[in-house]
Amino acid sequence: MIIGKINENEKRIKFNIDISCSNCRKKVPGGLQASEKFYNTADFKIELENFQKTYLCGKCRDEKRILDLKKR
Ligand SMILES: [Zn+2]
Repeated sequence: MIIGKINENEKRIKFNIDISCSNCRKKVPGGLQASEKFYNTADFKIELENFQKTYLCGKCRDEKRILDLKKR
């Protein structure tokens, strides 16, 4: 999973962070990537926080997709 944007020729920083699903609270070991330039900037921290707040595990994402389909 990528935080922010990485251009093709940019160096990537890989890091691990525990993410929990914002719906069922299941912990997921997150292997994340960000561009070297973006990593650890203020914007990066905001982006990461938002990512953690809205993260859904695979199962919840599927359920949400089905719910969204039913709403249509
Ligand atoms: Zn979940």
